[in-house]
Amino acid sequence: MRAGVMLGAALIALLSGPASAQAVSKKVVQLHQKLLTLDSHLDTPASLDLPGWSIDEEHGVHLDYTQVDLPRMKKGGLDGGFWAIYTSQGPLTVEGFRKARDFALLRGVSIREMVAADPANFALATEAKDAAPIAAAGKRVVYMSIENAYPLGEDVSLLQSFYDMGVRVVGFAHFAHNQFADSSTDPSKKPRFGGLSPLGKQLLQEMNRMGVVPDASHSSDQVLDDLLALSTTPVLLTHSGCKAVYDHPRNIDDAHLKALAAKGGVIQMNAFGAYLKASKPNPERQKAMMALFGEMREGTKLTAEKRTELLAKRQEIDRLHPDTDRATFDDFMAHMLHALKVVGPDHVGIGADWDGGGGVVGMEDVLDLPRITDALLKAGYSEADVAKIWSGNVLRVLAAAEAGKGK
Ligand SMILES: [Zn+2]
Repeated sequence: MRAGVMLGAALIALLSGPASAQAVSKKVVQLHQKLLTLDSHLDTPASLDLPGWSIDEEHGVHLDYTQVDLPRMKKGGLDGGFWAIYTSQGPLTVEGFRKARDFALLRGVSIREMVAADPANFALATEAKDAAPIAAAGKRVVYMSIENAYPLGEDVSLLQSFYDMGVRVVGFAHFAHNQFADSSTDPSKKPRFGGLSPLGKQLLQEMNRMGVVPDASHSSDQVLDDLLALSTTPVLLTHSGCKAVYDHPRNIDDAHLKALAAKGGVIQMNAFGAYLKASKPNPERQKAMMALFGEMREGTKLTAEKRTELLAKRQEIDRLHPDTDRATFDDFMAHMLHALKVVGPDHVGIGADWDGGGGVVGMEDVLDLPRITDALLKAGYSEADVAKIWSGNVLRVLAAAEAGKGK
């Protein structure tokens, strides 16, 4: 056991050591550590329910494929962010809604339990003004968000329960259309509502009334149009990219970027490789991964032994069918610098989709975050700009939602 632990630690040092972070000067790393840094889309709550996994221990991205934990957040200079209650899209039936509701409530409890179990290191944040003092106290900032409003079923008043739990950002859809909104990637490739459904419009009203930020990532462009027309407070894209750099339905075009910014909104840049650039098809790898993900789907119900076995299988897939055409840090920065060029540093932030498929060559987990600060400074952005990009902009949108509350 002990030997295994030691071997694991040695492997972590070997495989995920801060090799690329070393390329960033000490001065920039120090500045980065000083900034208030928030990521607007952390899928890390999914890790919390994995058997035998602890947020307090350092893991290796090449060993268990997780990207965020307390030690790595400290080393990589990530103060916190919006911890997502993500629910995969299921059937739009009474039974489907009930299952999704229960799942989402329990995932929210897991986030609250993470905070409650370690108050020295984590603190729940519910207002824009909470983040800075929490970070100044050396703790991680835990805002809560919902990715895919599907679990709210057909009763928008359920949003109040999630609000009371701490949720302040809600995304309408995920990979497929749901009861509230059209998705940008629905398998039918056809719109269902042509934007928000009537129920989706009701949900938006509830969000505006409570002071919850509307998130248009994953939703169709028409949903974004509806949100920009109807929302009384600015809209956020918690993790998205630019169509001008890579034409993918998950990204938005320059006209939408400008419309978003004109209403005070912000795009938070995604680091999900498949949305950053066109990759050469790798059918053997894809087939092997699909089969493995089928087995891993019930992640939280697996035993620790079974999970270890499946992780070994994934490492074997990486060895046999390596992904040789992955998106790189430069691809990620190309989207970010484009968005900055189009709408400027008041309307761009960071939502890398950690633990949800984010991560690129050269920025595999949060250990590498100082690279973003470094690249922004090298591109000519000031320290004040970088501070806005890392947290000021997303907090401004949250503060605007709070100010619009009840109107
Ligand atoms: Zn997502």
